[in-house]
Amino acid sequence: MKEKSFIDEITDNCHRVEERIAEACVRAGRARDEVTLIGVSKTVEAERVQAAVDAGVTRLGENRVQELCEKQPLLTGNPEWHLIGHLQTNKVKQVVGKVALIQSVDSVRLAKQIEKVSAAQNLVTPVLVEVNIGREASKSGVFAPDLEKLLTEIADFSHISVRGLMCVPPISDSSDKKRNYFAKMHQLFLDIRDKKLDNIDMHILSMGMSSDFEEAILEGSTMVRVGTALFGRRDYL
Ligand SMILES: *Cc1c(COP(=O)(O)O)cnc(C)c1O
Repeated sequence: MKEKSFIDEITDNCHRVEERIAEACVRAGRARDEVTLIGVSKTVEAERVQAAVDAGVTRLGENRVQELCEKQPLLTGNPEWHLIGHLQTNKVKQVVGKVALIQSVDSVRLAKQIEKVSAAQNLVTPVLVEVNIGREASKSGVFAPDLEKLLTEIADFSHISVRGLMCVPPISDSSDKKRNYFAKMHQLFLDIRDKKLDNIDMHILSMGMSSDFEEAILEGSTMVRVGTALFGRRDYL
């Protein structure tokens, strides 16, 4: 039997992920267009990422600025780029203007730098605030009790537009535990939205990865970030 080409494989994966998202939306009683897919292309070489774009993945997420900047010019089809990983202040210059959404703002200091660079380029940069919902020392993100204060501080910056929240909950084998974190996050999202803070728009709730995006959709996610299920397992050298 002929071996499947990587293009066929990634194309099939894209269709399968799309099916799973659609099924989860049905189970959740939600419309398919309430959930946006971000194809997480970190460590994946450009030609494989291109196969996903060609199969209909229109948004890509990278977690490192350098890799994003290197890969971006290699892709055709004009995909939208998102920065999903921790952003250092000294890298802000390289990424503002190149991405549709910075998903990982977690401090005023970082927001201040994004404000400064965006103002210099006459841009408004859309961002999500990352919440460390499991309060893990190894992860970035603001703790839930500090979220509102951070949001009101960022709201003063006129070249940043907050669009919602993002999280990476603790790894767990238990579907219930995962749903619990996602539910907590969704509640936080709704509470903040109800407060109608000036200049804070709460429309995007970015949560759910390859191993748990169905649970996330059931708990109100509006944006899932999927890498492994599209591209296969990453080889970290
Ligand atoms: C790597 C990564 C993902 C995708 O993870 P998979 O398990 O491969 O789907 C999603 N979000 C963030 C922030 C990541 O770093």
